[in-house]
Amino acid sequence: MLCRIQESFNVSFPPVRHVLFWLVFSLPGMNANADTEVGPATDSEVVTEDVDGFTVNEVAAGVYLHQGRHEQMSVSNRGDIVNSGFIIGTDAVAVIDPGGSVQNARLLSKLIRAHTSLPVRYVVLTHIHPDHMAGVSAFPATSKVIAHRHYPRALAQRGNFYYERFSTLFGGNIVEGLRVPDILVDESMRIDLGGRLLSISAHSTGHTDNDLSVFDHTTKTLFASDLLFAQRTPSLDGSLAGWLDVLRSIKNEDYALVIPGHGRPGTWQEVATPQIRYLNALQHRVSSDLERGLTLSEAIEAGMQETNEEGWQLFEEIHPTNITKAYTELEWD
Ligand SMILES: [Zn+2]
Repeated sequence: MLCRIQESFNVSFPPVRHVLFWLVFSLPGMNANADTEVGPATDSEVVTEDVDGFTVNEVAAGVYLHQGRHEQMSVSNRGDIVNSGFIIGTDAVAVIDPGGSVQNARLLSKLIRAHTSLPVRYVVLTHIHPDHMAGVSAFPATSKVIAHRHYPRALAQRGNFYYERFSTLFGGNIVEGLRVPDILVDESMRIDLGGRLLSISAHSTGHTDNDLSVFDHTTKTLFASDLLFAQRTPSLDGSLAGWLDVLRSIKNEDYALVIPGHGRPGTWQEVATPQIRYLNALQHRVSSDLERGLTLSEAIEAGMQETNEEGWQLFEEIHPTNITKAYTELEWD
């Protein structure tokens, strides 16, 4: 039985900054797309800070990363399953993905304050999935929320469903409100944190239809968010062919550090190669299934017979959903 929050929320749109509404989140197949697994900290960490068990590492000069746990979303982990980061300039701070709950985002905010008194001028929401953005209301209205041009549409389409899911999982108390973005990225934009430029790119449909990535020019660090998964099975919620296209378009061996949405940071080669292999194999296999006339259920059954050679985590939960999504996409090709 689902339990709705018995409060009425005010709904407002820009220039009013907050939208508090019957929160609702969905990922088609929440357990599949709730993006759950993260490995141990990267070897490149410099410093580990801890607030109430919530840690952040300085993975490059002035670039801080919190890695969520190797768990599914639960009450006990407060949705702490995603990579969240912040970057400090000489004038201001930018947050990249506040994470899966207000509680976690407040801990992230405390860790920011442990490093700097500069204002959080920007909060970048890399896409609509709630494990990345549900904590947004932890940051003040003075922090500008940046998202993809398609983000508002996705928010309108999925809000209620997400809310039902989160009410079931968490009693509805991990999200206090979602915010309509202040700044929408059409193709790309730059923000200046003071002596530090970040390029934010809006991608065509890949992991979702509203993916952003963030590049820090100072350290050549790429926050790829869920365009890249490490250790955890990638979850397809946009377009398989599109995702491969996006990865081709952002591929660059000169990144000093690539930070995936889940899992350990590394070089482009380290982080991207296993995922590209997985997506190519998925495309090849499902295309072949369609040519052979397999039904969707037969294609899923065949796909699940295959060995998980890469050792992807949550493979049993996510892989069938990916086959379903790929099958639906490719049968029209
Ligand atoms: Zn995602």
